[in-house]
Amino acid sequence: MENTAFHLEREIAVAAVREAAALCRAVQAGISPDVIRKKDRSPVTVADFGSQALVCRMLAEAFPEDPVIGEENADALRTPENAATLEKVVGYVRAAHPEADASSVAAWIDHGGTKDYSNRFWTLDPIDGTKGFLRGEQYAIALALIVGGEVTVAAMACPNLPVDAGADEKGVVFAAIRGQGVVRVPLDGDGAGAPVHVSALADVSKARFCESVESGHSSHGDAARVAEYLGITAEPVRLDSQAKYAVVARGEADIYMRLPTRPGYVEKIWDHAAGMLVVMEAGGKASDIYGRPLEFNHGYRLENNRGVIVSNGLLHDELIAALKALGVAA
Ligand code: AMP
Ligand code: MG
Repeated sequence: MENTAFHLEREIAVAAVREAAALCRAVQAGISPDVIRKKDRSPVTVADFGSQALVCRMLAEAFPEDPVIGEENADALRTPENAATLEKVVGYVRAAHPEADASSVAAWIDHGGTKDYSNRFWTLDPIDGTKGFLRGEQYAIALALIVGGEVTVAAMACPNLPVDAGADEKGVVFAAIRGQGVVRVPLDGDGAGAPVHVSALADVSKARFCESVESGHSSHGDAARVAEYLGITAEPVRLDSQAKYAVVARGEADIYMRLPTRPGYVEKIWDHAAGMLVVMEAGGKASDIYGRPLEFNHGYRLENNRGVIVSNGLLHDELIAALKALGVAA
């Protein structure tokens, strides 16, 4: 018999990130060169809150008992000095839900304000890769359901990622259920899903790796040392957001390294949950820099992990050994 467990959750999650992606695209379309020149972050603020409002509205309606650990809460938006920002958020949300007003939008955002672990909860990054969003490059709306500490369902929309490697059409959603694989679905239209697989590369010296654009989020220097140690000659592919997991999941890259830049930083669950399931269900592997599995049962942070290493699976042990040998994972 076909396994239909969590199909409703996946369907709702995909619908939610699609709606949020449309809002993010609408906001992004209004970013002028002037906004970029002035380093004005207000568009990302509006899209971030708008995206969280839409996703949480849909989750609250479909699964009212499920807590949501989201990146944002509406406290700041409720202050008088941010009234204009809240009005803008409401304006964009109304495109999908004309009945929305300031109080319902703030309440939807706050629905994602949970911080503590529970047996079944969602985690949401309403815009992962805010810097990529502002630059008009890669960003993701990343949503995952965690059950009993295991990431069980993932929906990740990447509005600026080609539907397939090298395709002209941009905008793709990755949808995964633990143990049931992952498909990619075009963000626009009603195109069918296609399965996603990691590469079969076993010779690490031929690997292509990706990393953050931001050197403050992942040490470019340490990654270059690892690459040199393993004989990797290809230049790193730098992109923002969990799109890095997607790129490994479909074999465009073989490795994603996220190497700590400072001692105290603890990774957030919403930056990894959806991406990790997408890559695992595509046949890949994710761990921290010591090779430990990522643990999603400590609240909103990956309390027991340090950094993140993702691969097609075949290259994983060599990577972890290199990190140890070089003292990056000391
Ligand atoms: P990326 O797009 O891969 O550069 O990652 C973006 C994410 O990096 C954001 O969502 C932040 O939560 C996270 N972040 C912020 N500071 C750090 C840091 N020092 N190390 C690692 N990740 C960070
Ligand atoms: Mg993020």
